[in-house]
Amino acid sequence: MTESLVALPSVVREVFATVQARNPHEPEFQQAVHEVLDSIVPVLERHPEFVDGGIVERLVEPERQIMFRVPWVDDDGKLQVNRGFRVQFSSVLGPYKGGLRFHPSVNLSIIKFLGFEQIFKNALTGQGIGGAKGGSDFDPHGRSDAEVMRFCQSFMNELYRHLGEHTDVPAGDIGVGAREIGYLFGQYRKITNRHESGMFTGKGVQWGGAEVRTEATGYGAVFFVQNMLGVHNQSIAGRRVAVSGSGNVAIYAIDKAYQLGGLPVTASDSSGYVVDDAGIDLGLLRQIKEVERGRIAEYAARRHGARFVEGRRPWEVPVEVAIPSATQNEIDEDDAQALIANGVRAVAEGANMPSTPAAIAAFHEAGVLFGPGKAANAGGVATSALEMSQNASRQRWNFADSESKLRAIMSDVHDAAFHAAERHGRPGDYVVGANAAGFERVAHAMLAQGV
Ligand code: GLU
Repeated sequence: MTESLVALPSVVREVFATVQARNPHEPEFQQAVHEVLDSIVPVLERHPEFVDGGIVERLVEPERQIMFRVPWVDDDGKLQVNRGFRVQFSSVLGPYKGGLRFHPSVNLSIIKFLGFEQIFKNALTGQGIGGAKGGSDFDPHGRSDAEVMRFCQSFMNELYRHLGEHTDVPAGDIGVGAREIGYLFGQYRKITNRHESGMFTGKGVQWGGAEVRTEATGYGAVFFVQNMLGVHNQSIAGRRVAVSGSGNVAIYAIDKAYQLGGLPVTASDSSGYVVDDAGIDLGLLRQIKEVERGRIAEYAARRHGARFVEGRRPWEVPVEVAIPSATQNEIDEDDAQALIANGVRAVAEGANMPSTPAAIAAFHEAGVLFGPGKAANAGGVATSALEMSQNASRQRWNFADSESKLRAIMSDVHDAAFHAAERHGRPGDYVVGANAAGFERVAHAMLAQGV
């Protein structure tokens, strides 16, 4: 995949060679950089000042990356040591902004790919936020609340010195939800003696959190599907929808798909997927995943007519809309071909980089509407920016107002990507559109602010 230097025109080939040489063991980071470089070539051709200003050379190197030891004691009194990360990629448009991921797969490559993507996603929202990502290889699954709390406190004991409402504002991601955010925020408050609401987003609504933040990524991905289909005078109503994952993004994508008349028929976790032709029972799914923190197979065991398919992903189920909402590289070329053969019309990435480059190429080749994560899942971080605004002004917006703001932002994100694709001679290519539109905003700001 990313090794194919020849696929890149000379204007960016050297930069990518440097990225490979400097980061030899970081395949996910290389993949993310390759995708962006590939699609901004037309932008660089139109803007020689971006090339002269060394914008790309600068952007592929994070402004700062922090790696740290996270020691904590488990319930058996045994010492555990995890590794913590925060990669502060770009602060040119605003304070560093991006989530924390707690998952055993986390390493520097994954955090860097996520942080790099976040720069352009955040720029695309137009909300004045820079790009960052962080996390740990800690696995919250199977840990008690007390263990999760001790881990979060230890994590924050180091990270707090790098954060602040004007400096760096984390949020959740895989493995970091309401519980973890509460413990992390609480420790920051205790260490600093400041109730600094704007230093974290995704907070509980009683203590500075914003309405609709929890729902925002999933809702936003479905709004994005509606926007893409709307260009062709179509809608999600009456269409079967495959959703992967069963976390926050998946649950609220399913919720909004129902509200707009779609029929979500799948959900998954790392053990396999369930298919339910009658439509996913959202109450049961939430009970199993959010309350019991159980496995997805439980869903099929308790729901008549539903089937659990072990060790597979839901892309073999016939649907017209797919919303991958689990993790990176969860749709490969074969999965894409299976979706295409079954007549998929639109794919919107609720997760970050869930489709491999070959899968994206297959979707484009087949004329499938494809919304990349940078655009389709931008509703989460955009609503984080709304949370920061409310914290700064000590205001509270109600659910309906917040949702209509989210809807408007998603429509702006869609239009920015759509028009940038047209402007650069790739109509309908939202990958080029999202990367180009986000990149242009960042590049102009970098030129203005000097080296
Ligand atoms: N983790 C989310 C994302 O990938 C949200 C980040 C945030 O709200 O800062 O965009």
